[in-house]
Amino acid sequence: MKFWIMLLVLIFCWQISAAVIVEYNGSLASETIEIVSLQEMDYFNVFELDKAFRALISEDILDRRLYVNIYQKQLVFLIDSSYLLFENEIYQFTGDIVQKDGKYFIPKNFLLTVLPSIIAEIEFNGEKLIAETPVDNRIKRIVIDPGHGGKDPGAIGKSRKNFEKNIVLQISKRLKNKLENELDVEVLLTREEDKFVSLQERTKFANANDADIFLSIHCNAHRNSQVNGIEVFYLSAAKTDDARAVEALENQVVYEYEGGEEAVKKYNDLDFILADMAQNEHLEESYQISEKLQDHLISNTKSNDRGVKQANFFVLRGAFMPAVLLELGFITHKKEEQLLVTTEYQEKLVTSICKAIKEFKNKYDRMQ
Ligand SMILES: [Zn+2]
Repeated sequence: MKFWIMLLVLIFCWQISAAVIVEYNGSLASETIEIVSLQEMDYFNVFELDKAFRALISEDILDRRLYVNIYQKQLVFLIDSSYLLFENEIYQFTGDIVQKDGKYFIPKNFLLTVLPSIIAEIEFNGEKLIAETPVDNRIKRIVIDPGHGGKDPGAIGKSRKNFEKNIVLQISKRLKNKLENELDVEVLLTREEDKFVSLQERTKFANANDADIFLSIHCNAHRNSQVNGIEVFYLSAAKTDDARAVEALENQVVYEYEGGEEAVKKYNDLDFILADMAQNEHLEESYQISEKLQDHLISNTKSNDRGVKQANFFVLRGAFMPAVLLELGFITHKKEEQLLVTTEYQEKLVTSICKAIKEFKNKYDRMQ
């Protein structure tokens, strides 16, 4: 009996000691890095670095490399070796990196000796690791904005009289599912049902929820029923006549449903000049997202490529994050209207958008 109690105590103690404690400067919070024994040596799963330091981990299977981005620095581990590259220098630790059950394990001695010697934000005090509180700037939340809704039907199909507001809500819901399933993100919709939401409320919602990306989903319309194709917009003073026409179409809601000239004046207030400046900070990122979206949408749907454009949409102004507006096809074009209401085509659009966002996120997160 005593033996078993002793054994239990031993196991308990072993488990306590089998973790490295991380404390954060100026914070009561702490974290533990679990240590496991492999080949009679102490190791930790590389993903523990994500938990403790918000490190971003990726692997290059072909080159047998493991990338760890931590405190804006990049460590490159050579898998199956005891070496790592850091700022053009080679560092060595004791014991090779072990790959087991699809996970990578790094020797504990790296954690207590090499890591604190190369990353200024981390130190080892002989007992615990003391670190600066890591900032998590990764893309975690996306707001999808299904255009129009309620009393504002948006554009109306010429041949089948479908409403833009219904098509974009269906696509937005599919997109939410896909993004949440395939990326580690939370997705919020500015409307989940057929109701009217003012343009200002849409970005307000995205700002209040600390969204990292804002995607406004629309279908296009044109007097000429031959016009078709996909285009993606990001914010700026409209450049071409075509872009101005789409801008007028999407901004029209303010005249028709939000109180006419008075409301337009509201959108042109000083607040919005300031908000424009906020969006300016994200122009480069908005442009990059737009390019990726357009590339994937066109290559996947074989739709007519109308390109990436700039326009001054009220709905994008005031977003404190990269923001783009997608025109996924012309509801006034007979064939495109038919396609836009089918599950198959909607899934095609959603898959393309998801691929583009995934690509952007992978690149963006790595730069953080
Ligand atoms: Zn629209």
